[in-house]
Amino acid sequence: MPGEFELIARYFTRPTQRADVALGVGDDCALLEVPAGMQLAVSLDSLVAGVHFPRDTPPADIAAKAVAVNLSDLAAMGAEPAWMTLGLTLPAFDAEWLEDFARGLHEALDTFGVALVGGDTTHGPLTLSLQAHGFVPADQALRRSAARAGDLVYISGYPGEAGQGLALALGQAAAQGPGADKLLARLNRPTPRVDLGLALRGLAHAAIDVSDGLCQDLGHVLAASGLGAVLDVERLPLSAELLAEAGEARARELALSAGDDYELLFTAPPETAPALAALADRLDLPLTCIGRIRAEPGLELRLAGADYSLASAGYQHF
Ligand code: ADP
Ligand code: MG
Repeated sequence: MPGEFELIARYFTRPTQRADVALGVGDDCALLEVPAGMQLAVSLDSLVAGVHFPRDTPPADIAAKAVAVNLSDLAAMGAEPAWMTLGLTLPAFDAEWLEDFARGLHEALDTFGVALVGGDTTHGPLTLSLQAHGFVPADQALRRSAARAGDLVYISGYPGEAGQGLALALGQAAAQGPGADKLLARLNRPTPRVDLGLALRGLAHAAIDVSDGLCQDLGHVLAASGLGAVLDVERLPLSAELLAEAGEARARELALSAGDDYELLFTAPPETAPALAALADRLDLPLTCIGRIRAEPGLELRLAGADYSLASAGYQHF
């Protein structure tokens, strides 16, 4: 069995093309260059086996999802990903597991041009903590607190898909057709909306990534901004696959309350609508207006002219 240092050398030390990494893995600290005029955006996510992923999840999927979830936070601030550090706690040395994990990790990092610059490796129950570092021009980050009354509320992609994917994965729902595989993939391999986040600088006011459910995450924006919103439930973009698998009523419920989609929810003034339509075309990603921000506090859901009430709130750990 190799020691900790051999393990780090074998699985987590790779050359990088990034010129801003003066020193990567191997010393007591990494040495990194933040470009002039940029703020460093930093975010940490921990994933615990049995809580954030089933224990038997393929290791490459665990790694890819951890990277995606982390980059999603940078995207939600309009930050450009640059570096990551990894805290890895392993129950045992398992070469096959590590091989697959490292492959998934480096593939995901390479997709976004991110360098792994350091970390820590310890023994214990399987847990990984990833910290992402990115750049955002000073004072251009998309903050939760920046929504304004009169802004329109947008969601990217098709919310609720990962929620139905989770129901399928847990055996709480049975696959109805070929769309089920796509929904499972949305759960296991979410796509962080990095390009969207970058393009929203200067267009959007506030943004957040939907990890705990659309209404709950919108609630964070409203609380931080000291405002309220009204959502038109019939405007939710429900994908054909989600509708086929879950039916319309359940699809709406999932789109509003299920987590794990990692789409971006953002607010933008009405005059940006043409620019946002062009952006949706360029990224080949739907950006759907689902409501608007108003001064009156609270979140009101409307469906066909009547109040709509949500059966479940979003995910909470405690
Ligand atoms: P120290 O004892 O000084 O904290 P470590 O022995 O923990 O250093 O780590 C040695 C080097 O390997 C450091 O550069 C650290 O950042 C890096 N490292 C440790 N574990 C990981 C990991 N899982 N992924 C990437 N780099 C790692
Ligand atoms: Mg250490």
